[in-house]
Amino acid sequence: MPRSQKPRSPLGAILQSLTNDNSQKRQGGNPNHHHNRPHTPRTGGVPARVPHTHGTHHAATPTGGIAANASAPASSTTTPSARPQNHQHRRNNNQKRPHGSHGARPAGGAPSRFSRPSFQYPEHKRRGKAPAHPSTQEGHKAPAPRKRTGPIIPPPAPGVIRIIPLGGVEEIGKNMTAIEIGDDIIVIDAGMAFANEDTPGIDYVIPNTTYLEERKDKIRAMFVTHGHLDHIGGIPLVMSRIGNPPLYSRNLSILMMKKRQTEFPHLPPLNPIIVENDSVVTVGAMRIRFFGVTHTIPDSMGIIVETPHGWIVTPGDYKLDQVDGIVTDSEEKAYSIFDKNKTLLLLTDSTNIENEGYSLPEIKVHQGLETIIKRIRGRMIIAAFASHITRLMKVIQVAEELGKKVVLEGRSMKGNIEIAIEAGLIKPKKETFINIEEVDNYPPDRILILMTGAQGEEFAALNRAATKTHKKFQLKKGDTIVLSASIIPGNERAVERMKDGLARQGVKIISYRTPGEEYVHATGHGNKDDVRWLHRKTNPKFFIPIHGNHYRLQLHKELAMELGMPEANAIVPDNGSIIEISADGQKMVVRKEKAPSGLMMVDGFSVGDEQEVVIRDRQMLAQDGMFVIVASVDQKTGKLKKSPDIISRGFVYLKESQDLLHEARQIVKQSLEENSGMQPANFEVLRTQIGDNLSKFLFQKTAKRPLVIPVLLAV
Ligand SMILES: [Zn+2]
Ligand SMILES: [Zn+2]
Repeated sequence: MPRSQKPRSPLGAILQSLTNDNSQKRQGGNPNHHHNRPHTPRTGGVPARVPHTHGTHHAATPTGGIAANASAPASSTTTPSARPQNHQHRRNNNQKRPHGSHGARPAGGAPSRFSRPSFQYPEHKRRGKAPAHPSTQEGHKAPAPRKRTGPIIPPPAPGVIRIIPLGGVEEIGKNMTAIEIGDDIIVIDAGMAFANEDTPGIDYVIPNTTYLEERKDKIRAMFVTHGHLDHIGGIPLVMSRIGNPPLYSRNLSILMMKKRQTEFPHLPPLNPIIVENDSVVTVGAMRIRFFGVTHTIPDSMGIIVETPHGWIVTPGDYKLDQVDGIVTDSEEKAYSIFDKNKTLLLLTDSTNIENEGYSLPEIKVHQGLETIIKRIRGRMIIAAFASHITRLMKVIQVAEELGKKVVLEGRSMKGNIEIAIEAGLIKPKKETFINIEEVDNYPPDRILILMTGAQGEEFAALNRAATKTHKKFQLKKGDTIVLSASIIPGNERAVERMKDGLARQGVKIISYRTPGEEYVHATGHGNKDDVRWLHRKTNPKFFIPIHGNHYRLQLHKELAMELGMPEANAIVPDNGSIIEISADGQKMVVRKEKAPSGLMMVDGFSVGDEQEVVIRDRQMLAQDGMFVIVASVDQKTGKLKKSPDIISRGFVYLKESQDLLHEARQIVKQSLEENSGMQPANFEVLRTQIGDNLSKFLFQKTAKRPLVIPVLLAV
């Protein structure tokens, strides 16, 4: 909020800060990220929440400073790069252990020397976010430096193989697994997960990197399976926290990570190395190899870590390239490496473990979309995940063959196709693409528009078209819209609303459930039969299900047991579980200690795992609003100078609650009088007391627990 403007009174300052906050909220921050989930309704009765009070006092300087404190209680946060980073030290470490590699080439020349990161986004990145307030007042305690509470975790014993799933095993998203043998640690993937109703206002969540940060000097490399956000979304922040080790992946994935990195100009550049499916890489004492897998994005690969007892295998996200259970020759060939090699441990995706049979082959979707594109006479709009690059490439190719013009609408849609072209995966003619403003220059049957927004995302292109708020494009009768996506759980209502909006404009909608229609969508993850096939093919001694919430992992373990795996050889992990395979390769156990696994939240330009207070405040604000009471108190006597002012938002309608307000003022007065013996008045104590009494009172009267903020002005 602008600090230069001097408000007239403390109350004015607070009001102004509230107004500013509101307007900032409405402008919205990042236009690419939307919360379209409804608020969780309060589950009847009296919620068991700890009464929670915030407040501040300030000694008689009624300026904007008070308002800043009052409106942003306890929001001091840590920034990643506020911690010292010893680049020199890191480089020395890397030099000590050279990374031999065969078949790998450095991406984009030699890694440049990076400068010390500064921790602020450029101004445009911060729009819509209130800047963090320096919390210097005694009413605010900055969070203590991160303290390790758990026991110190000793390094793995000689010969022991340690596996730590650090993310993606209690949720779908933010995948990350660390493997530690002797002096070496490698990390596989660093994804992100979007915020949900438990983390209001948070931009996204990344895996907890504490275990790795404490062992930076042992980390030899990051390996990334493919370019989806649940595998690369955490890369910029994670890499900077773990010492920016060399980053290995295939070409497209590297390009996608570089693109994402440009959104974090304050972080050191990546140190990427492109590998191929048949590359073999040595990092530290570990030998790593790869294999190609089928997924919805090209260049997806599985990762193999060689050990004396056999391979550790993780395919990343995969489904089989098969029709009616007959796996294609190229797929058979890719997996044939497992025929003559022993698999010690398999770690695999559990996303679709509830789905029977094989997953629908993508080829059927390609055929279905091709048939529809040929059949439809009017304009055609295909809404799809921008991440399903393989499918988008196919659609562009078909459109081009039919002489249609293609519009790419939506930032991620444009960005991903640009990267696919840059990677040489498609070579469309330049004139195939036109801008959305140009669609009226062509007959309707020559127009194909690829759009984002199949999930009903509020600000995505398709929803803007549905709500007639798209600035450059209007739907018309005769248009056909293909929703080439499934609905992600939680988005059902938004999609329904969007379909209503589309239907009102007389367009035809084809979704993946439209009866009698061609296939327009398939999952990118293997169903049960794909999973069974992989288990049989690799025939692992040990098994750890990953990528899924606990229930899915459990089902996956049961499936492994059905296929003959002894129960003792399969472990369902939690985020941070430390699993060890004994030095003789005969036993797999979970250690009693856990690696830190608290949510690492990215909120504006801060990241950390100690923002619970901020989140709790937002939950309270979202549920019951806020209640601010501003009281002028005589510094010497501790008595009230005049009747306190009250401001509330989202709590009760003030005009109709005069009795409540009157009583609240009485509570403040009484609380002060009870402490009138104090000489001089201890404002900290007074504030806590007023807060507690008010919280109790408001709850008794309204069964609501607003965020109570007492502001005491010493006069
Ligand atoms: Zn994926
Ligand atoms: Zn994934």
